[in-house]
Amino acid sequence: MPRVVHRLARRLALAAGLLLLAPVVVAHARVWLDDDAPSESAGSPAQGRLRHGHPLPPSGPGHVTYSYLGASLGRQYVHGAVRDAMLEAFAAVSAARPGRRFVVGETGHRQGGAFWPHRTHQNGLSVDIFVPLRDAAGRPADVATYPWNQLGYGIEFDAQGRRGDLAIDFDDLARLLSALDEKARPRKLRIQRIILAPEYVPLLLASPAGRALGPLSGAILRRQVWWRHDEHAHIEFALAAGAPR
Ligand SMILES: [Zn+2]
Repeated sequence: MPRVVHRLARRLALAAGLLLLAPVVVAHARVWLDDDAPSESAGSPAQGRLRHGHPLPPSGPGHVTYSYLGASLGRQYVHGAVRDAMLEAFAAVSAARPGRRFVVGETGHRQGGAFWPHRTHQNGLSVDIFVPLRDAAGRPADVATYPWNQLGYGIEFDAQGRRGDLAIDFDDLARLLSALDEKARPRKLRIQRIILAPEYVPLLLASPAGRALGPLSGAILRRQVWWRHDEHAHIEFALAAGAPR
């Protein structure tokens, strides 16, 4: 190969490497540079704002971001109390279920407001979490999130929650919902609404942890919404009366 072509190829490889690395650095930098100002949520999930939103760390015990690019673009901000409840819940479930980690999807902008293409996620209290999976051997697996499957949102599961050799682990999903509820309460938060494909709700409630959901099962929406919600669960928190907004 002529020397000039060789040099060009090396520079292109370096540029491609930096391009891939930049979102990882920016996503982490958002967390490093974050302050600890108390968040303030205003309005509703469908029409709201957020003051002092905080970024979710792109990875940590029991969780990983759906996309470093999405995180670097500031699409994983939440109310600080929601962030703290989520991080504790992920760590607790993964400690109890070795090998389990949760893929966190989109949550919201730093200052809330319209969050295309979502219809809610405006006041820092809505989060998307991709469904936990198991492979044919029973090992924990993740929804694969790539640009060509709409960062995971384009993946389809069948009516039983299966896709090839992978199956949704409804028990681990129910464990996470319980843990989120448990970690939210001391923060004067509660889970107000859970959206999952309606055909999955009986499967969720029939799982061992699903049978123990108690009153939390009342927060699960039982009808189809505009998006099928087979690949992710949408969870909406609400601040309890008297809590700091
Ligand atoms: Zn959502």
